Amino acid sequence: MAREFPLTPEIVETVSTHYRKLSGEIPTSEAVESILRMRAAEPQSMRGQPPIVWDRAEGCNVFDAQGNMWLDFSSGVLITNAGHGHPSVVEAIRRQIDGPLLTTYCFPNMPRIRLVERLASLAPRPDYKVFLLCTGGESTECALKLMRTHGLRSGGSHKSVIVSFDDAFHGRTMGAQQLGGTPSGKRWIKNLDPEIVHVPFPDGFRCEDTSFGLFESTLTSRNIEPRNVAGVIAETYQGVGPNFMPKTYAQELRRWCDRHGALLCFDEVQAGLGRCGTLWGFELYDTVPDLFCLGKGISSSLPLSAVVGRPDVMDLYGPNEMTSTHSGNPVCCAAALANIETILAEKLIDNAARLGPVLKRELAAIKNEFPRVVGFAPAEGLVGGLLAVRPGTKDPNYDLAWDVVNGCFRRGLLMFAPVGVGGGCIKIAPPLRITEEALLEGCAVLRETFRELTGH
Ligand code: PLP
Repeated sequence: MAREFPLTPEIVETVSTHYRKLSGEIPTSEAVESILRMRAAEPQSMRGQPPIVWDRAEGCNVFDAQGNMWLDFSSGVLITNAGHGHPSVVEAIRRQIDGPLLTTYCFPNMPRIRLVERLASLAPRPDYKVFLLCTGGESTECALKLMRTHGLRSGGSHKSVIVSFDDAFHGRTMGAQQLGGTPSGKRWIKNLDPEIVHVPFPDGFRCEDTSFGLFESTLTSRNIEPRNVAGVIAETYQGVGPNFMPKTYAQELRRWCDRHGALLCFDEVQAGLGRCGTLWGFELYDTVPDLFCLGKGISSSLPLSAVVGRPDVMDLYGPNEMTSTHSGNPVCCAAALANIETILAEKLIDNAARLGPVLKRELAAIKNEFPRVVGFAPAEGLVGGLLAVRPGTKDPNYDLAWDVVNGCFRRGLLMFAPVGVGGGCIKIAPPLRITEEALLEGCAVLRETFRELTGH
């Protein structure tokens, strides 16, 4: 089981820079008191993050009520692409609330109309349609349903296999978790769908064979006929790394899907809206999916997700057959619209592209300095990871990763708890508006923490 961050206040070294301010005891006694109240009422699954009670968050900073300020390398969990509490997003929400128009169920509202039009205008094909939902998991569940429905209708009752990848994450509801590639997450499901199958993800680290041949040979070894595959779903990058597939692999996958009448879906819940230095993450692969899922960074704030895709697939269900009570909520749509316009107007995608090489260089430098305990340091745009390993192996070192996150937290750098296979991945994902100076300061804190923990 994952470790809980300690609730014992300890005096930290005072930090006072433009981006970080910390003094006295961390966690503060006020935070400890509030967190204990929370813990009494919540399941322990919600105890996984460093002990700060967020009071305010602006730009690239998170504040507690006692005057401490953290530099944020989490963006929530890759939510606040435009930055925390962006004034345009706040203003759009305020205007919508003042209407007041807070909900309409599936009756039309203008923010929803504007948002689906805007997302469609940004899609890689002009005829793609947009279906709004609330969470990332809802969007991948919907993609699963659409892929299988399309397979069954286009190829008959045998065309129902869905291919996903080992180590994938697509959410925690029943369909999404079956798409996921972590066996432990699926233990609670008694009748696992035998036609959701997983193939190795070609990350080049855990799976050194990055050839597309491995995709095909794995299906053959499982006796799966390509013509029976209804769809393939892949995170554009696997959150556990972030792991990217080679561009040639993605392009071969696209051709393979076309050859066998299978749909290709990219889960862009993390990768979309500028995170990788491109509007859509799949632009890195010069490959267009039939469907893609959006969430997290779509609004930089309120819950909203979407499935975007080919009109013949999106129209598989008739009126009122594919809906959700809070789909297209006007307040969430107003926030998402303001967020998308902000990301574009403030050229935050260009900023992510410009700072991508800086982040890559800094993480590579940390890996070079600690080669025995940092096994892999992938990065693209403003998402990166440091994979902590047991000395000289590829085995994840959860304890070290956890200690690094905890150590950084006590130095005023905020990251979420380690993720990934065996919990070895320290994930770096600041808001896309971060400056080079702040990015370098955060990376220096990471390096200092590694030095302290490894006795360098
Ligand atoms: N897909 C990906 C790639 C994700 O990273 C996540 C969440 O981390 C999800 C889906 C699930 O999103 P949600 O937690 O909003 O249901």
